[in-house]
Amino acid sequence: MSCNIAIDGPAGAGKSTIAKKVAKELSFIYVDTGAMYRAMAYYLLKNNVNAEDIRELEEKCEGADISICYQDGEQQVFLGEENVTAYLRAEEVGRMASVSSANGKVREKLLSLQRNLAAQHDVVMDGRDIGTTILPNADVKIYLTASADKRAKRRYLELTEKGETCDIEEIRQDIIERDERDMHREVSPLRQAEDAVLVDSSQMNIEEVKDAIVGIYKEKVKH
Ligand code: C5P
Repeated sequence: MSCNIAIDGPAGAGKSTIAKKVAKELSFIYVDTGAMYRAMAYYLLKNNVNAEDIRELEEKCEGADISICYQDGEQQVFLGEENVTAYLRAEEVGRMASVSSANGKVREKLLSLQRNLAAQHDVVMDGRDIGTTILPNADVKIYLTASADKRAKRRYLELTEKGETCDIEEIRQDIIERDERDMHREVSPLRQAEDAVLVDSSQMNIEEVKDAIVGIYKEKVKH
């Protein structure tokens, strides 16, 4: 039986950075489910789909052929034959993903992809509904969060380090809007699973968060 660690939390809490490090330390596979929703969003954008038009969205999402493979331990996302991984972090794609992921048909389409990976491998999987919906029996569940101010500041630093010009207040507003959509949508809203451990990283650095989660895992598997 594979071992599964689920990490959920709001946008910008550092889930992917932390999940990757935890996976590396434990020799697990890191599964970035946000990238799957982003690949769907990329597909919808490419096909000029208006995400507010539910019928069009539900019809078109059926055609997205999304698959995952691993190269040198790094997750690669494919749309049909094309590796689209490099395009998925664009702000436009993230914004579309935040809207289209609220749709039940879109979520249904990605559910088995996520569950199959977790059934076949030891995984650290991050997302919004991993502990609540995708892997309700995960061995360890973490709800990773940080204040909106802290998350905006981190995102701002990340973008400016890449040489991009951005406005911290705009980023903060965007984060608040995404939280609102993720937490209040009807299908699979973001919330802490009852058996998830809350980790607030507002006052912690990356290594401290990684060590805390590895510690929680080791404590859990001992029992
Ligand atoms: O985590 P990331 O920012 O890459 O996710 C992109 C968008 O996909 C999020 O804004 C969220 O709305 C959605 N998402 C989701 N469920 C997941 C992962 C991501 O709804 N498991």
